[in-house]
Amino acid sequence: MRALLAEDDPRIAAAVRSALEGAGFAVDVARDGEAAWFAGDTEPYDAIILDLGLPKIDGLEVLRRWREGGLRTPVLVLTARGAWTERVAGIDAGADDYLPKPFQMDELVARLRALIRRSVGEAAPVLKAGPVALDPRRMEVTALGRPVALSPLEFRLLAYLMHHRGRVATQIELTEHLYAQDVERDSNAIEVAVGRLRRKLGVGLIETRRGFGYIIPEGE
Ligand code: CA
Repeated sequence: MRALLAEDDPRIAAAVRSALEGAGFAVDVARDGEAAWFAGDTEPYDAIILDLGLPKIDGLEVLRRWREGGLRTPVLVLTARGAWTERVAGIDAGADDYLPKPFQMDELVARLRALIRRSVGEAAPVLKAGPVALDPRRMEVTALGRPVALSPLEFRLLAYLMHHRGRVATQIELTEHLYAQDVERDSNAIEVAVGRLRRKLGVGLIETRRGFGYIIPEGE
């Protein structure tokens, strides 16, 4: 999963970024409204965390522009403490959830995961596909009931395919969703990671659609 964090306070940005990375996300940070607007418009994020008090273009305006442009990515808005008018305005502008500052990192991560689950129509916190179960809260994966140790990239890859089960995910799509912007992207890395993931899982879950990409079929 890949997230955009739009936050101008460097200390908050660093803390949120490290919490999200610790929870298995690839994270891009935008430090002002203009950069956030551009990144959200051009990069495919699974979720966005948006501070409303941003320089250049304020967060509410950024959100309005995204929604007017048809962007459907779930957005969690960060508001100043007690500013209920901000919350109302944020929800009017198309926010999916909000969190008043200061907040606990655990709560932010939990809410973000809930938003992503809702956005793909998945209610259960533990994802299951055939013999494989993935618990995003604990970052644990089991195959046939036995724990499987995955690298962060392998974990994100499996989580993405499980979230989008029944649909082919192309190499390009996977690359875009699994890496932050500032990471050098190797075109073979996905193929190699899929190979390793298959070996570690030891079950035939991920299928290749040659020339297209990878899929975990529905009903496995
Ligand atoms: Ca701010």
